[in-house]
Amino acid sequence: MSRAAVIGAGTMGNGIAHVFAQHGWSVTLIDTVPAALEKATATIRTNLDRQVKKGTLAPEAPAEVLGRIATATALEAAAGASLVVEAASENPAVKFGVFEQLDRIAGPEAILATNTSSISITEIAARTRRPGQVIGMHFMNPVPVMQLVEVIRGHATTDATTRMVMATAAALGKTPVEVNDYPGFVSNRVLLPMINEAIFCVMEGVAAPDAIDTVMKLGMAHPMGPLALADFIGLDVCLAILEVLHKGLGDDKYRAAPLLRKMVAAGYLGRKSGRGFYEYAK
Ligand code: NAD
Repeated sequence: MSRAAVIGAGTMGNGIAHVFAQHGWSVTLIDTVPAALEKATATIRTNLDRQVKKGTLAPEAPAEVLGRIATATALEAAAGASLVVEAASENPAVKFGVFEQLDRIAGPEAILATNTSSISITEIAARTRRPGQVIGMHFMNPVPVMQLVEVIRGHATTDATTRMVMATAAALGKTPVEVNDYPGFVSNRVLLPMINEAIFCVMEGVAAPDAIDTVMKLGMAHPMGPLALADFIGLDVCLAILEVLHKGLGDDKYRAAPLLRKMVAAGYLGRKSGRGFYEYAK
């Protein structure tokens, strides 16, 4: 049976473990925080039960899927995996440390993938002695629902690694799209300037947030307006990704709107803080 390890059991890690296990993989979910593992297991159980209620999963499936997921607090538990997907906190020092360790722990054939939204795949790969077997596997939130996996080739990623990861993502029922490693990849390179421009429109008084979102929803058939989406992603995360684009591409067209900086400084982070461009009941 195929064996995967997922590093980090937060928002993304639980969804990634869920999808692999649902498609027959044996999964070891690893997090340094035991409470994160407990919460992830409970979330996976709730999401599987929801799939059964919707009729998209057989009633006996949740027990089988959960039976394929083991949890651990030490990275050594990734030793037997043929594919490791890292979804730990978005912090370069954390990711570099995890990849240095995984390179020592994982078997020589194992592929090491990262779910990073904005850190260079090439830089992560350079921390290992197997840069050809390091790749980006960028799942979208919520993982069990969203169709896309952005597969990002680092500078040294081999064709064989890319083929294997594209095939794996397709076997998980997802649609993989291959892109190259430049700041923001495709997803955030295109999305964040749109969100940023919407924030400039608020700042300059072009229109109110709900007016801007309505234009984009009804005029452009976007399911969600850019400002509601920014609140969903988190305004601090949006700012951090814009900084990566601005610094990495060196072009002022990626300059974050001063209003975005001010809102982040004020603690208006979107849904998670109860307030961003909109207010949310906590
Ligand atoms: P999160 O904060 O919800 O979870 C991160 C988890 O990693 C935490 O449980 C933490 O305890 C664990 N962790 C930290 N250091 C670790 C280590 N050394 N070893 C093992 N576990 C460790 O974060 P998230 O939102 O799930 O994001 C994870 C990754 O996915 C990030 O790289 C992020 O950029 C990316 N991503 C997030 C989203 C999203 O919408 N949240 C979407 C796409 C990609």
